[in-house]
Amino acid sequence: MHSAHEVEAPIKVKRVARSRVQEVDLASVPFSSVFSDHMFVADFENGQWSNGEIQPYGPISISPSISALHYGVSVFEGMKAHRSREGRPLLFRAQENARRLQRSAARLAMPAVPESLFLAGVRELVRLDHAWIPDADKGAMYIRPILFSVDPSIRVKPAESCRFLILTFPFGAYFSAPLDVVVSERYVRAFPGGTGDTKPAGNYAGALLADQEARQEGFHAVMWLDGLERRYVEESGVMNMFFVFRDHIVTPKLTGTILPGVTRDSVITLLRNEMGFSVKEEPISIDDVFKSYERGDLLECFGTGTAATVSHVRRIRHKDKTLELPPVEQRKIGPAVRENLIAIMTGKVPDPRAWVEAL
Ligand SMILES: *Cc1c(COP(=O)(O)O)cnc(C)c1O
Repeated sequence: MHSAHEVEAPIKVKRVARSRVQEVDLASVPFSSVFSDHMFVADFENGQWSNGEIQPYGPISISPSISALHYGVSVFEGMKAHRSREGRPLLFRAQENARRLQRSAARLAMPAVPESLFLAGVRELVRLDHAWIPDADKGAMYIRPILFSVDPSIRVKPAESCRFLILTFPFGAYFSAPLDVVVSERYVRAFPGGTGDTKPAGNYAGALLADQEARQEGFHAVMWLDGLERRYVEESGVMNMFFVFRDHIVTPKLTGTILPGVTRDSVITLLRNEMGFSVKEEPISIDDVFKSYERGDLLECFGTGTAATVSHVRRIRHKDKTLELPPVEQRKIGPAVRENLIAIMTGKVPDPRAWVEAL
């Protein structure tokens, strides 16, 4: 259990005069279109973190010279809260996100947000804005922690002062059609020794052009290969990948260029320990994906990530070849693990690993 004594002083709360939640249809609001009433703000200055404060969501004032703007000294997280059938807010593996933000910060030579500050901020904010969480099965609240340098200087140096914000917004349970992805021949997302296994803002900026070109060609996302040999599948868009073969499941091994997704880890755990499948974490080349498909051995492919949980892949294009996988209704594993995981996140089934925290 988490104790309430982790932060020294209580978080100060400045509430909005009037909540906007009544104006929003939580079950149909598009992703990231309306933010909840409040946000959490904490500052790192002179080697110390403030206790943090909850304020009305709104514009913030920053110096135009901060290195977050000039050099991308900024890292973030993504996580979700669901509402249980009893109406309680539920967090999913929040500690993993706190730790990953610390690894991301370390990679950019930024001060770490203490786990206790991160978790206290998330819990207080979600409790305060709990009315913004859509009902169970109607959607979820997305939680976006972000840490960025606010040093008012364009000298290139590690951050000395930083701001940590947590924003939240509701999004409706939208139907997402299976994805068509295209293997990028031209661009790479990550390379050995780079920042691919953390979540700095720049990773996303660097992927935008490839994403735009893929969309212009009629695809939903890019499938990324490794940066050295351009042979091995790494991720798709901002999702970890799973390939379901006749007798086993493969997901690329975490070698330093792949983001260690919390959803990825959860899916591996459920597939192995609850559903009894053999999941191998190993390199998988795009040629092997196509060869297996041609032999009839590739049955399913899906991506995992916080926003969509599990996204089924329909088509994969590589050079002049396209493979097309069976319709989702005929798939056994992707839909089942998705349902299984969402049942845990929404508190419908026992949670032996204590992944879910009720607030
Ligand atoms: C955040 C992210 C993911 C998904 O991680 P989750 O913890 O499952 O949300 C996958 N790939 C990339 C590149 C990411 O940035």
